[in-house]
Amino acid sequence: MSYRLTPRVQLRSSPATFSKAFSVYRGEPPRLVVAMAAEDITRLTILSLSMSTTVSPLSVSMEIPAYGATAAKAPLEPLKIERRKPGPHDVEIEILYCGICHSDVHKVNDDWGGTHFPVVPGHEIVGRVASRGTSATRFREGELVGVGCLVDSCRVCPECRAGREMFCEKGVTFTFDSFDQNTKMWTYGGYSTNIVVDERYVLRVPKGLDTARAAPLMCAGITTYSPLHQFECKPGDQVAVVGLGGLGHMAVKLAASMGADVTVLSTSRDKEKDASRLGAKHFFATKEPGALDALQGRFSLITDTVSAPHDLNKQLTFLRNFGTMVLVGLPPSGAQLDAFTLVHGNRRIAGSNIGGVAETQEMLDYCGKNGIVAEVEVINADQINDAYKRMERGDVRYRFVIDAASLRA
Ligand SMILES: [Zn+2]
Ligand SMILES: [Zn+2]
Repeated sequence: MSYRLTPRVQLRSSPATFSKAFSVYRGEPPRLVVAMAAEDITRLTILSLSMSTTVSPLSVSMEIPAYGATAAKAPLEPLKIERRKPGPHDVEIEILYCGICHSDVHKVNDDWGGTHFPVVPGHEIVGRVASRGTSATRFREGELVGVGCLVDSCRVCPECRAGREMFCEKGVTFTFDSFDQNTKMWTYGGYSTNIVVDERYVLRVPKGLDTARAAPLMCAGITTYSPLHQFECKPGDQVAVVGLGGLGHMAVKLAASMGADVTVLSTSRDKEKDASRLGAKHFFATKEPGALDALQGRFSLITDTVSAPHDLNKQLTFLRNFGTMVLVGLPPSGAQLDAFTLVHGNRRIAGSNIGGVAETQEMLDYCGKNGIVAEVEVINADQINDAYKRMERGDVRYRFVIDAASLRA
């Protein structure tokens, strides 16, 4: 840390006295130095003082319990991790619940490459504000808050200024397995008891929502809300949701709440009753011969949540003219698109990746007004490995949520 005096500082006592007075406080936060200067005002006439900080003061950390993996495909196990103590703009959140997203499983398995171990996953976090930094004013202690997929970004690039922090040109800091440029630490996610986040990236959880069931809104909720918003889902629209899993079940609830006539496309009829309960009016089992023939030219929007390989060209034929098929799942690359199907009818194919802070808050407020939460199975931390196995075989209805109290036991 260094301090710089502007040219307008006038010293009436000797420079040596002044220097000695300040050197005592070198290394302390600047506000202490200002207090020192005020005390010493009888000896010094200071008209203006400015200081610059060259070293982050966030060097103090605390150790907390977490659950994570120390190597690719290794079982998750109890770990101790370091969190920074809250800086001036931070809030410390006592985590209540954290959803398990499919990307957690991919990161632990290192399916996408580049996972930094140990990894503590989790970006569907709901908790209460436990403490605040001296300049953090947005939240009260005890307030119910959420943390989604990202915890920091540069804040000044065009994407950040437009509220699309996930595409920050300097590189967004994700909630876990991301290198934080400010703290020079790897981020650890919500499979833990506490998290410290700049208040700018913290979300307000509306009153009245079930706490555990609100956690998956932080990723599954925004991932499916954003494309409905972007492509202007409105009452009476014919909307298809492909795949009824963690993402798909949220897409059905949200589209139905917006007044759309929702159709679910799922591989088998196993989830037909669930689809209807969640708000879908129609259901088609994609593996039944001839089942899809009636769907040609039907939908203005298709939200495709499936990550396994499947026939995108066939689905494109289900769009009406100027309709859009938006991918939120990540099937392996290599599928060839049929240009004729796209061009004929001005059909569109799009992708959508989570959402920025403002849009995520908008989604939460919308869910608060409309009473929308996820369907969840609450588990303890020692059930996480079983949950991962069940997710890999599609055996979850529709999101596992970890009760963080089990990490404190
Ligand atoms: Zn996620
Ligand atoms: Zn940025």
